[in-house]
Amino acid sequence: MEEIMIAPCGMNCSVCVAYLAMKNDLKKKGFSRSYCAGCRPRGKNCAFMKKKCEKLGEGLIQFCYKCENFPCQRLKHLDKRYRTKYHLSMIENLNFIKANGMEKFLAREEAKWRCPQCGGTISCHVGLCLQCSLDTWKQNRKYRWGEQ
Ligand SMILES: [Zn+2]
Repeated sequence: MEEIMIAPCGMNCSVCVAYLAMKNDLKKKGFSRSYCAGCRPRGKNCAFMKKKCEKLGEGLIQFCYKCENFPCQRLKHLDKRYRTKYHLSMIENLNFIKANGMEKFLAREEAKWRCPQCGGTISCHVGLCLQCSLDTWKQNRKYRWGEQ
């Protein structure tokens, strides 16, 4: 995983369903999913927060932890949603980066999201490897981390 895939809010775009859909070319495999190259690669400073945060909108800060208001209410809301549904905490990610540096964070993320079956990447939004577990997802398009 690469540093450019870590968004200012602490999201790891490498595990986003829209990025993995693109990477695995899921449109060709019968899924109608939108593709996204990641917030930073697309030049969007932050897809989640930029409309509501001037500093992110103008690209004034690299990561939210560098902001005096970190963690702000908006980030807390986002973090709660992601912790509850998607097994990911932006705030924890940012605190880890701040304390241990990007290299260690990327290594940890690599291990956290690696599919034990094929070495592909598990999507945080689905809870499945979008390389080898597409049948499960095809059977239930609302599948999320074994729920429903
Ligand atoms: Zn896999």
